[in-house]
Amino acid sequence: MTEAELLARSSPEPNSGCWLWLGHCNDQGYPRYGQRSIGRMALGLTDRDQHALHHCDTPCCVNPAHLYVGTHQQNMADMARRKRARGQPGNLHSAKLTYAIARAIRNDRRMLKEIAADYGVSLATVSLIRNGFIWKDV
Ligand SMILES: [Zn+2]
Repeated sequence: MTEAELLARSSPEPNSGCWLWLGHCNDQGYPRYGQRSIGRMALGLTDRDQHALHHCDTPCCVNPAHLYVGTHQQNMADMARRKRARGQPGNLHSAKLTYAIARAIRNDRRMLKEIAADYGVSLATVSLIRNGFIWKDV
């Protein structure tokens, strides 16, 4: 996957320099394309033992400059560290929403349920963002 293709489906975050993936993410918040990891595609990894790890603490970031090649062990250690840092598992859904994503949802003109499925948030959340009840400053 080229940088242009990555950028076309992500939202650059000016402060951190992260490219926030706007497509599907798995339960851990990592960008996926079907069974494949976008991070691995961004780095052009084909070896099963090589994993795309993040320099930044943003699982949904696909900026190749923020990714580096690591082993399975490093990947597991990294995920465990991040899980501890994030705290309660119940925070997962709200943690996934960022200003960039909220802005993208608000500007998305598709049906609510398509948007909700695409961004992995509830219909109610999409509706609240659309109508300006939450994330209205983005
Ligand atoms: Zn990043």
